[in-house]
Amino acid sequence: MTPEMEKPIQLRHLTTFRLGGTPLRYLRPGTEQQLLDALEECRRNDLHWRVLGGGSNLVVDEGHLPYGVIHIQTPGFDWMDRSAGLAVRVGAGTPTAKLLAYCKRQGLGGLEFLAGLPGTVGGAVAANAGAWGKETCDAIARLWIVGPKGEKTELLRPDLEFSYRHLALQGAVITEAEFALVPRSPELIGPQMMRYARARAERFPVGPPSAGCIFKNPPAQSAGKLLDLCGFRGYKCGGAEVSERHANFILNRRGATSADVVRLIEIMRKAVRRRFGIELELEVRRWPAKPQAA
Ligand SMILES: Cc1cc2nc3c(=O)[nH]c(=O)nc-3n(C[C@H](O)[C@H](O)[C@H](O)COP(=O)(O)OP(=O)(O)OC[C@H]3O[C@@H](n4cnc5c(N)ncnc54)[C@H](O)[C@@H]3O)c2cc1C
Repeated sequence: MTPEMEKPIQLRHLTTFRLGGTPLRYLRPGTEQQLLDALEECRRNDLHWRVLGGGSNLVVDEGHLPYGVIHIQTPGFDWMDRSAGLAVRVGAGTPTAKLLAYCKRQGLGGLEFLAGLPGTVGGAVAANAGAWGKETCDAIARLWIVGPKGEKTELLRPDLEFSYRHLALQGAVITEAEFALVPRSPELIGPQMMRYARARAERFPVGPPSAGCIFKNPPAQSAGKLLDLCGFRGYKCGGAEVSERHANFILNRRGATSADVVRLIEIMRKAVRRRFGIELELEVRRWPAKPQAA
């Protein structure tokens, strides 16, 4: 059976920033076999491809995108299983919020810091998502991936190269993850998650379209603070606007284009470089229409 293909699809409907045009192929594998077929189809057609989860960490260009998109947030990859003892196995397309609700019900602690994080488990692992001084990799025990040539591999934590907001994947697709958790009562987990979610809502702009923090924090610095000192809160570029609440967030106000966002990113980067001699690195992932525009 071939993976489900819907065409044409505009990625702006699938990204939290509400940005993105039409990829050459849009594939929604419902099973692992369909994922293998999707990869095979891309290889056969010599088509470069990208993996999409919840689309909450992406700045995607408009127009015709010269690559295929394999969307993992499908029912076939949305499942959870308390495998053994305190471990939970999760399909990569499971929304992170759903995993957290499950952990609370099961009395399993360790992932509370992710409360309020948008996106899927696969995306959180691939981006090594973090908050409040903790990272997803802290709780990872094992991953199951499919490599670009369709090779399936199980990787233990010591085999995985995690770094700040990054996991070295070499083009592989995460299909499932196992988390090693700790016993904790739902009466403790619930309020802790509420505290994190409330702190997030107070600190970050959670309503308007965005992709979270634009830049990584430089060593021992806060990107938001540096941008704040440069006076960026409320700064506008076309339909893109720096949040009044947090200077490391760009919001899509008034139908921004990716060009507006990229221009604003460059202005912010240049200002921080000039004033502090610090080169800010992107935390969001760029999916340019042309390779040289990255
Ligand atoms: C309001 C808001 C707040 C946010 N706060 C935080 C925060 O506090 N901390 C933080 O770290 N991030 C934050 N983010 C960013 C984002 O939510 C996280 O990085 C999230 O984990 C991304 O998951 P996703 O499924 O949306 O991934 P996507 O955006 O779909 O993809 C992100 C990257 O992961 C890859 N990927 C996705 N799924 C897979 C898979 N199955 N296999 C291989 N690669 C895959 C994609 O190719 C892409 O490179 C925030 C975003 C928003 C909009």
